[in-house]
Amino acid sequence: MTKKVLVLPGDGIGPEIIAQATKVLDYLNASLSLGLEFTRALVGGASIDEAGVPLTDQTLDLAKQSDAILLGAVGGTKWDTLDMAIRPEKGLLGLRSGLELFANLRPAILYPQLAEASSLRPEIVAGLDILIVRELTGGIYFGQPRGIQPLEDGSREGFNTYRYSESEIRRIGRIAFESARKRNNQVCSVDKANVLEVTVLWREVMDQLAPEYPDVTLSHMYVDNAAMQLVKAPKQFDVIVTGNMFGDILSDEAAMLTGSIGMLPSASLNSSGQGMYEPCHGSAPDIAGQDLANPLATILSAAMMLRYSLQQEEAAQRIEKAVSKVLDQGYRTADIVGSGDITKVGTNAMGDAVLAALKSA
Ligand code: NAD
Repeated sequence: MTKKVLVLPGDGIGPEIIAQATKVLDYLNASLSLGLEFTRALVGGASIDEAGVPLTDQTLDLAKQSDAILLGAVGGTKWDTLDMAIRPEKGLLGLRSGLELFANLRPAILYPQLAEASSLRPEIVAGLDILIVRELTGGIYFGQPRGIQPLEDGSREGFNTYRYSESEIRRIGRIAFESARKRNNQVCSVDKANVLEVTVLWREVMDQLAPEYPDVTLSHMYVDNAAMQLVKAPKQFDVIVTGNMFGDILSDEAAMLTGSIGMLPSASLNSSGQGMYEPCHGSAPDIAGQDLANPLATILSAAMMLRYSLQQEEAAQRIEKAVSKVLDQGYRTADIVGSGDITKVGTNAMGDAVLAALKSA
């Protein structure tokens, strides 16, 4: 059966890194007869230049009709002076809300070959493999009422509302349990149930879901402890599920454990399994067009796309093994050079090395 993939290269290094990921996908599509059909469109600054807006209705429609979207990155100094409402980043927000992408999946994987890139001791982080599942469209970032208002004494107060409905908690919980089944069958739900009623409900709903997944072990942790445990003993975690704000903070903390932003993929999913896949980093205008960007985060995002939206687990694993192999072979882009017997390569050569590793597997 044909599956539709919308490719949105975006701005800055976006087109360069996407070219490496599509190289890998084209090969797997042909050799494993995956039946993938690719369409390309503009987003972000590239779309502003062409159509005056960061996301056109046509591109949003194409996205809605696709099974998955592979995105490079958006943004750059050229568009920084534009009005907030039509900045490149609004294109991403438009895609997230238009497709109701409520679940953000961010793996923090530290390949043993890159252990010295972390600021933590290698024995604490080598082999780290955590998946953070963050609720993306609710919680305190979106809760109403919100605002800044005057007080009777002439000063002002600011306020936000932290709310989650049972159905919002249940749907993100299900994503976490299902994801754990594709990994090591452990979910740690992170909350602040000792202080916040909304997370008392969060904990109750997670407990209600657990019996539906008897093969998965559920544990709970307060967010302050989770922040500490992530730097003390991060390898204790498999899947962490949490709300929007806690997830925002913990996923950045976990990403930094790996020490290399050029290696980190991400996925944002909706309830029908449709997803948008992109590297965690931005468009890196400082190195754009110089064949310096690390394409591995984007190539690994393509692997996540095959796993979570296209049901091609074998192809996903083949990509991940190929990435591990090129690291074993010593290939490094400038951001992950480190010491030892390595071969420094550019964006294109790194893509070629992954392709060669796939072909020789
Ligand atoms: P950035 O992630 O683009 O860059 C931060 C630093 O990391 C830079 O020094 C860059 O050279 C380096 N870097 C990033 N990706 C790399 C890669 N693959 N290989 C090697 N080095 C890499 O963040 P920034 O500089 O804060 O933002 C630049 C632009 O990207 C801004 O316009 C910002 O709004 C946008 N942005 C977009 C996204 C997105 O598209 N999802 C996310 C974050 C930032």
